[in-house]
Amino acid sequence: MHTFKDFKIKKQLQNALSDLGHEKPTPIQEESFSPIMGGFDFVGIAQTGTGKTIAYLLPILQELKYSDQQNPRVLILVPTRELVIQIVGQIEKLTPYISLRVVGVFGGTNNMSAQKQAVNEGVDIIVGTPRRLYDLTLTNVLRLKSIKKLVIDEVDIMLDFGYKTQLKNIFHYLPIKRQNILFSATMTNYIDELADEFLVNPIKKTISISGTPLENISQESYAVRNFYTKVNLLNHLLQDREEFSKVLIFVGTKTNANRLFEILDFQSEISVIHASKEQNYRTKSIENFKDGTRRILIATDVISRGIDIEDITTVINLDTPLYPENYMHRIGRTGRAERKGRSILLYTDKEAVLKDAIESLMNYSIPALEFPKEVEVSRELTPEEKDKPLEVAIQSENRSVQKSGDSFHEKSAKNSKEVVYTKSYNDRIKKLHKKPVRRGDKIQNMKKKRKKK
Ligand code: AMP
Repeated sequence: MHTFKDFKIKKQLQNALSDLGHEKPTPIQEESFSPIMGGFDFVGIAQTGTGKTIAYLLPILQELKYSDQQNPRVLILVPTRELVIQIVGQIEKLTPYISLRVVGVFGGTNNMSAQKQAVNEGVDIIVGTPRRLYDLTLTNVLRLKSIKKLVIDEVDIMLDFGYKTQLKNIFHYLPIKRQNILFSATMTNYIDELADEFLVNPIKKTISISGTPLENISQESYAVRNFYTKVNLLNHLLQDREEFSKVLIFVGTKTNANRLFEILDFQSEISVIHASKEQNYRTKSIENFKDGTRRILIATDVISRGIDIEDITTVINLDTPLYPENYMHRIGRTGRAERKGRSILLYTDKEAVLKDAIESLMNYSIPALEFPKEVEVSRELTPEEKDKPLEVAIQSENRSVQKSGDSFHEKSAKNSKEVVYTKSYNDRIKKLHKKPVRRGDKIQNMKKKRKKK
């Protein structure tokens, strides 16, 4: 373990860190410092609470020289106003001994003219939400041509909030030659997509997920025929109100969250939360689950992230997560504060390959439970199960099952020249794991060529 002194950062930053009482870098800070200092594109998978903000701020502040130019050189995009305020605050805390101009911009209040004025006065680092940032760019008040470093924090939430178009619009105004730094708590297809399209040979580091399952969480799995049979199984299990007294059910999509909510028994005991629900509704869902008014919470990965709830007895994975590290995030919601927790994974035949990837990440086989005889096996399929077998879904979304810690470009399946369609998906995944191929080379080389010109 290093200390911040090993980073050889300037005295002003060192002193600020001491003032904050931060002595040793956190793991994500250790992993990100050199690559970001080295100017590489970077993808960090790390949750809030891991020290990820300082992880990207430190190398950026270390490198940023004094300037009185008007246009910003660093752009930090975050999904919410609260995060803008928080990050501006972090920057201010890190720079009491450095002359630096930081401006935060966000929508929702009548503050556009004050923000315009602040930008007009000159800024080194601008932190903002995508929509407001884009609006300011369109008015020509904010000029992004001098941006050398772009940070997108909480990328997965960005997507869930529907900021995809705004981000691409903003990219349009940025210089091609820049360093890109992405941070996200969960791995998503969108990160793959962004990285393939806009990043050059990014270095990827995954933190916060140790491959080792928490010892106090007992893990179990059921092989289940399809979605509706999963619902039947849930209806059977959840009858035991004592064993399942506070249950968090994870689903992969908003559609499945709504669908499950509509057809599961115990309606009056269920809350549901996902990004398309109104803020008030979400807050109420969480409150009701927290205080025990509702026994069951159905949630999608992204939206449930910031939620800190004690005493969850069981996490049920209704859908097997596409990215194995997300399974670790999910089950970590139970067994908190040294209490015993239980996790149950329901997987279909098509999801077995995803379960394999999770097990290989953990180096642990999730014990299988026998499917209860009294539970009816449904023959009904959801429209997605009918139209889009998982295998096709995965291919069409250009992703691969990944093992945490591998380098990013080795994992992206998108541009593989080695896709052998005659083999089963399972075999191909195994092959990918054993001998990753450098997909993306073609695009990356094109980008490099473009850069050289
Ligand atoms: P973040 O994950 O960036 O939201 O940071 C979570 C909290 O960890 C913040 O309150 C930081 O001030 C704190 N923190 C960040 N880095 C360190 C460190 N090296 N040592 C102790 N606390 C830290």
